[in-house]
Amino acid sequence: MSYYALVPAAGSGARMGGAQPKQYLSLLGQPLIRHTLRTLCAVPTLEAVFVVLSREDAEWDRYDWSEFGDRLVTLRCGGETRAESVCNGLRAMQEWAFPDDWVLVHDAARACLTPAHVAALIAAVGDDEVGGILAVPVADTLKRADGTQRIDATVPRDQLWQAQTPQMFRHGPLLDALQRCPAVTDEASAIEAQGLHPRLVQGDITNLKVTWPLDLQLAGWILEQRS
Ligand code: C5P
Repeated sequence: MSYYALVPAAGSGARMGGAQPKQYLSLLGQPLIRHTLRTLCAVPTLEAVFVVLSREDAEWDRYDWSEFGDRLVTLRCGGETRAESVCNGLRAMQEWAFPDDWVLVHDAARACLTPAHVAALIAAVGDDEVGGILAVPVADTLKRADGTQRIDATVPRDQLWQAQTPQMFRHGPLLDALQRCPAVTDEASAIEAQGLHPRLVQGDITNLKVTWPLDLQLAGWILEQRS
């Protein structure tokens, strides 16, 4: 049984504003995605790292990715949604992966992932029947808004977790679940829709997803503190 990483990187990053897809925004002088790929490619348990690009991506080839050698495999099969990009990537991976192999799906935009995060997930999931995800317990009190940006209700935060990535499932069941259930925003949701209960593995908030402009500064600060 093998472990692979699959990195969907075919989004446009509309919430960041600007014309450049967020995976290529400069983070400490490098395209953001290089930090993500460096971490994943440095994890010896992972046989290879697959990155899913949009078919129209004109930026990827402007950079030199040779530092990753054949640990990095580029798939130009991105879809309209994140789930479609992952699904297309999993199909393309069938050339390499067996249905029982583990796939760790990780957002390109989570550039502060560490090898320790990945190792903790793999260790905690172990040989679990279903799989699991990195996540953090919700710390803040949550409000549901009405249509006028006023509070409609307070949502109890007990037992609530914020999902992160990597999300780790077996290749065959994950592809099957995403094909049946394409309207999801993460892999776990598709697995849950099959009546299964993925494991929650506690990560930490440094594994943030760069979504809004301020996140880029935060990510830069986190990476600098570590070096
Ligand atoms: O937009 P969001 O932050 O949810 O995207 C999460 C990840 O999914 C990003 O790495 C993004 O590039 C990827 N994505 C994708 N294909 C899409 C939309 C998003 O691979 N159509």
